[in-house]
Amino acid sequence: MTENTEPRTVDILVIGGGINGCGVARDAAGRGYSVMLCEMNDLASGTSSAATKLVHGGLRYLEHFKFRLVHESLAEREVLWASAPHIIWPLRFVLPHHRGLRPAFVLRAGLLMYDTLGGRKLLPATETLDLRTDEAGRPLREGFRTGFEYSDCWVDDARLVALTARDAADRGADIRVRTKVVSARRDGGLWTAVIEDQASKAQETVRARLLVNAAGPWVDSVIVEALGQSGAHNVRLVKGSHIVVKRLFDHDRCYIFQNADGRVIFAIPYEQDYTLIGTTDLDYHGEPGKVAITAAETNYLCAAASEYFTKPVTPEDIVWTYSGVRPLFDDGASAAQEATRDYVIKVAGDKVAGAVINVFGGKLTTHRRLSEEVVEQIAGVIGHKGQRWTRDAHLPGGDFPTTGFEDLVEQHTKAHAKLDPALVRRLTRLYGTKVEALLGSARTADDLGAHFGAGLYAREVDYLIANEWARTADDVLWRRTKLGLRVTPEDKTRLAAHMAERV
Ligand code: FAD
Repeated sequence: MTENTEPRTVDILVIGGGINGCGVARDAAGRGYSVMLCEMNDLASGTSSAATKLVHGGLRYLEHFKFRLVHESLAEREVLWASAPHIIWPLRFVLPHHRGLRPAFVLRAGLLMYDTLGGRKLLPATETLDLRTDEAGRPLREGFRTGFEYSDCWVDDARLVALTARDAADRGADIRVRTKVVSARRDGGLWTAVIEDQASKAQETVRARLLVNAAGPWVDSVIVEALGQSGAHNVRLVKGSHIVVKRLFDHDRCYIFQNADGRVIFAIPYEQDYTLIGTTDLDYHGEPGKVAITAAETNYLCAAASEYFTKPVTPEDIVWTYSGVRPLFDDGASAAQEATRDYVIKVAGDKVAGAVINVFGGKLTTHRRLSEEVVEQIAGVIGHKGQRWTRDAHLPGGDFPTTGFEDLVEQHTKAHAKLDPALVRRLTRLYGTKVEALLGSARTADDLGAHFGAGLYAREVDYLIANEWARTADDVLWRRTKLGLRVTPEDKTRLAAHMAERV
């Protein structure tokens, strides 16, 4: 039922709570626009929790001459790292030279360009490795002699989204989860949108001066189904899957392996005890919410990793998989892996008619620049408010020195000496300087309330409900944390019961 009260009017209604929608909401709210963001499921429940989780220039994009994208992405690495050094950190990548694939001089030249193209200040430069003597050569099959080691960064993708949404809300944005934008129509220069709570099915009408369609893989269906416009086929859906296996090697560097098909896959240390292997790159024509790995993808990833590791990786080794759909702008490229990863922003309509900004493509790495660009476009349509501000701003919990994570862990460990140091470290990774707000006066494990397994206590769950829009056990176990890898089904049932009482 639609309620009768006068509809609320906002400057901007953002559709989609992935990284791009949350980034736009944060930037716009910080400049003084009134913003509402609707996410039909959980924050980051779409593509933004299914990435390889790299803040990277994209070495492979150099081969496709995407210099603008690579330059912008490389420069964003240190900007994003400084904004959230708890959830973003540097990684070293080992690229073994494979006889019969790209020659060593090509790899060296590419990495030289990679080192110099973007503003690298803290990240170390490329080095050449002798894999016969370097520790990184130990898990690899015999015959790999030379490797190149270069820098990029890691990001906890789902937490990047939640913290971006939190910051947007702290700056005044109204963030609605489990709320779908079911329709929006132009009406006298304003949009009249109907939004629907997905649990109660209650509907509400909202008026907005401008819409931002950041629905990721659903961007075309929003254009057709919610906006009632015909003929949208701007997005090319490209599926990517990952497998997670028990830890394959002891050091903290990653591997980037070249495949005979011209693609690369990564093998990355993951959640202390695991190795993450991915990804695939396949055109996808199904419902984005139902995407899942196939046996062929599993075999492809196992075979690609086994080409390099001494101990073969088999489907039986897999403890978890996830898949996502890249919402790429359809630039007519023939192969899925060649479609542009760059973002495209399209403005339709104007101030008088009511405007919508449709967002295509983009990467976690470039979301801040994409958001700036969208808000500049917003200013062009509904009027200017505020300057660009996100470059030097921290995300919640990230207000400590870029290289100061270990100091922060030490500080928290001393302040909470009676708690398990591994728990304090895990919390510092997820919440940074917000650990004090989360733990409050708690000094011992008994002060943290019910235990749901794997170091997850009611105190943390309640913090996530109150501050990060967590509503279900999966929100907590797979997106706000990755404790889903460790808890038992019984733990999960007890957690779900606890959350049902709270939300
Ligand atoms: P999404 O995260 O999908 O968000 C869109 C949201 O809109 C969804 O949550 C959906 O529920 C919501 N929605 C849809 N319709 C409605 C509606 N009517 N009402 C309300 N809400 C709605 N990038 C990197 O930088 N580094 C990487 O290592 C990397 N690896 C990747 C690996 C893979 C396999 C994939 C698939 C992508 C990878 N990316 C990477 C790219 C990156 O993940 C995506 O570009 C980014 O997450 C897209 O975010 P988004 O906000 O546009 O879409």
